[in-house]
Amino acid sequence: MEYPTRPCIMCGKSFVPTYPAQVTCSDNCKAARVRQVDNAYRRKNYRKHKEYVTKLEQDNERLQNELIDLKKELEMTIRELQVARKGKDQEEIRAALSKRMKACERMSLRATTLPCGQRENCFKPTRCSECPPMARLEEVLAP
Ligand SMILES: [Zn+2]
Repeated sequence: MEYPTRPCIMCGKSFVPTYPAQVTCSDNCKAARVRQVDNAYRRKNYRKHKEYVTKLEQDNERLQNELIDLKKELEMTIRELQVARKGKDQEEIRAALSKRMKACERMSLRATTLPCGQRENCFKPTRCSECPPMARLEEVLAP
């Protein structure tokens, strides 16, 4: 099918189009036309793009700062937790120790293991109720 000749919109030269929407005469003019349309689009949208990029950069900076603040907060919380845990551990150790602690009023002694039946005090002036049945004063006094 033949279409009537028309002027190229880039160079003005007359040409015979091979399809209805053809507006340029050659590959060179076609490429020039594509560049022209692209540039027009870019010019039109440059301001919008620029604003968008600026907004993205501001958002990015704000988020970076928020991230830094959150990291600091997290580090502080971790430190507080470590301190709290250390205190709790010590408390538990103290509690466990005091649970195992035994007291001897006779000797004014507090220990996890008492020397019941191994001291003179265990028998004098009377035999202490905590003395093991096998304990003898003679063995304690023996050299
Ligand atoms: Zn042309």
